[in-house]
Amino acid sequence: MPLTPEQLAEIEAARANPRHTLRAVSDGMEAHLYRVHPVLDHGFIRVIDYMGDDAAIVQAARVSYGAGTKHVQNDEGLIRYLMRHWHSTPFEMCEIKLHVKLPVFVARQWIRHRTANVNEYSARYSILDREFYIPAPEHLAAQSTVNNQGRGEVLSGPEAARVLEILKRDATTAYDHYETMLSQEGQQGLARELARMNLPMNIYTQWYWKTDLHNLFHFLRLRADSHAQYEIRVYAEAIAACVKDWVPLAYGAFEDYRMGGVTLSAKAIAVLKRRLAGETVTQEASGMSKGEWREFVEVWG
Ligand SMILES: Cc1cc2nc3c(=O)[nH]c(=O)nc-3n(C[C@H](O)[C@H](O)[C@H](O)COP(=O)(O)OP(=O)(O)OC[C@H]3O[C@@H](n4cnc5c(N)ncnc54)[C@H](O)[C@@H]3O)c2cc1C
Repeated sequence: MPLTPEQLAEIEAARANPRHTLRAVSDGMEAHLYRVHPVLDHGFIRVIDYMGDDAAIVQAARVSYGAGTKHVQNDEGLIRYLMRHWHSTPFEMCEIKLHVKLPVFVARQWIRHRTANVNEYSARYSILDREFYIPAPEHLAAQSTVNNQGRGEVLSGPEAARVLEILKRDATTAYDHYETMLSQEGQQGLARELARMNLPMNIYTQWYWKTDLHNLFHFLRLRADSHAQYEIRVYAEAIAACVKDWVPLAYGAFEDYRMGGVTLSAKAIAVLKRRLAGETVTQEASGMSKGEWREFVEVWG
């Protein structure tokens, strides 16, 4: 359960107080506003605020006085054109602010996306909760033998049980020591900013994270991708589901051109042309490296 009943009641109270506005409103996003979308065992994402909608992208692209065109088809065509031609600034006119609760090791990957504004829960000021990410058995996998940066088969039997036991015991022990060091019963109590250094990377932290739609798409392209680690991918997927409801036209273009599309190098185009002309092209004759060729064949056969 990522939130207490009091926190859930606060969210419902905020949702029970709608106000009239002249600003652009996305009905799809209004349904998500403030609500918790659970991720992993104790984490979540929730949309705290947003600015703009599909029409705002069109409006900015045209530098118009009204709210986009009256014709959805025209708006969709323009949005797809913008996405196709990497004309990205109109997408920056839309913004989103999220509240995210996530394990520290996921936060370390996430924070690499520099084009966002972040404010994190202070473990100097406050005491962290006793909450740790423990993978579900189906995600407790062995090191991949083909990909140094990935996982392979799921662990099973005594090895899985032993690993889970170690993860749980170490987290509990570290947190017990954290509490002992902080305690002021009969001692001064170590400063919170120092006591935290003994905590494991699977402890949960929280932050507010604000970014624009262009940079969010970049984040989703990298982190909702199958090459991303499962534990950050599930956050990206939860955000993507909200974005789909927020800006369905822009999300459709993103899915088509970025998530579903591929970029072709000049060498790849040349190989495709030679193949279309009936030639059998080998990796050696393609001018591509083995790695490039493997990725090319994965898409084109
Ligand atoms: C599958 C995967 C594996 C990874 N493995 C590693 C790893 O092993 N080690 C590691 O250290 N990282 C790793 N990363 C992180 C990766 O290298 C990037 O740091 C991360 O994905 C953020 O990407 P970004 O810089 O494009 O995004 P952002 O920081 O959000 O930037 C978005 C875009 O803004 C522009 N930009 C932002 N800041 C600057 C700047 N200062 N100067 C110029 N342009 C800027 C760039 O065009 C950039 O693409 C990995 C990422 C993925 C998805």
